[in-house]
Amino acid sequence: EQPLLEVDDLHVRYSTTDEDVYAVNGVSFSIDTGINYGLAGESGSGKSTAAEAVLGLLPENGAIDRGEIRFKGENLLELSEAERRDVLWEEIAYIPQSAMDSLDPVMTTGDQIRQAIEKHRNISEANARERVRELFDMVGLDPDRTEEYPHEFSGGMRQRVTIAMALALEPDLIIADEPTTGLDAIVQDKILDTMLDIQTQIDSSLLLITHEIGVIAETCAELSLLYGGKVMEQGSVDNVLINPTNPYTMGLKNSFPEIEGADNPVSIPGSPPNLSRAPSACAFTDRCPFSTEDCEQSHPDLTKLPNRTHRSACHHVEQAAQMRRDATKPET
Ligand code: ATP
Ligand code: MG
Repeated sequence: EQPLLEVDDLHVRYSTTDEDVYAVNGVSFSIDTGINYGLAGESGSGKSTAAEAVLGLLPENGAIDRGEIRFKGENLLELSEAERRDVLWEEIAYIPQSAMDSLDPVMTTGDQIRQAIEKHRNISEANARERVRELFDMVGLDPDRTEEYPHEFSGGMRQRVTIAMALALEPDLIIADEPTTGLDAIVQDKILDTMLDIQTQIDSSLLLITHEIGVIAETCAELSLLYGGKVMEQGSVDNVLINPTNPYTMGLKNSFPEIEGADNPVSIPGSPPNLSRAPSACAFTDRCPFSTEDCEQSHPDLTKLPNRTHRSACHHVEQAAQMRRDATKPET
């Protein structure tokens, strides 16, 4: 069966007055229908840029240099802007990063959702109002509160409003960028549960973007881990997060120890790569304990590993296990 969304060798560059920023450098991944797919990576790794490229929502100074983006087999980059917008509104819903802070403060939350519906559906005002109440109910908000303004809601509730808005047209794919970041852990869990619930009800796929791999471990079946705009490791969540073969994945895992019960988080030392040149070497070399000359000379391809079902881009896949801090012993 044909994947729902395929991103193939995507390259995105931003131009600024001083320099170019090579934000996405050859990212490929593919999401099957009905799958929850995670896109993870440290801040600045290119997650939002990749999503905005898919959605045709890059800022003015961003450009797709190369690559293909296919939705149900159709290359989105060959469509006109208007055609692309139609596909997006009808079939892909987007919850942008910080969505809950970008609701219109002077319009009631219910009206914001109603407008989105009326713009794209031939529906009477009364029916649209009823639909908004339904959506409120679906995302766990009191349907009697549709007349309230964003400031009357808590952060978690505002995020529920943005989710309701995304669901209004029953999309085939929901792209949610850090939908729970900044909310406290209990609210996070509840909102993720709600999203998963609804997504099952309306039978959509999810692309979940977050720097918290713990969130992906709980919600997704497959993932790609980005660093410096490249995919470092990719495959099923079970394989990748339980037996990482990339020191970067291992480092991220150690910074979210709740995944396997090590006691205290240790973040990866060092800072993200300089993106003013397209990387020719492994972007992680400076921070990697196993770095050798090979790593400085060529970026390893994302390669399927022998005896594994997932792919890793690392010259030292066998060594990553040495970074384990949890009790589980590496497979040999
Ligand atoms: P975060 O977790 O912080 O949201 P991210 O993985 O979503 O990070 P992006 O926002 O995609 O990362 O940014 C990737 C790189 O591109 C970063 O180095 C960022 O500074 C740069 N960047 C993003 N937007 C622009 C822009 N409009 N102009 C120039 N550089 C940009
Ligand atoms: Mg982002």
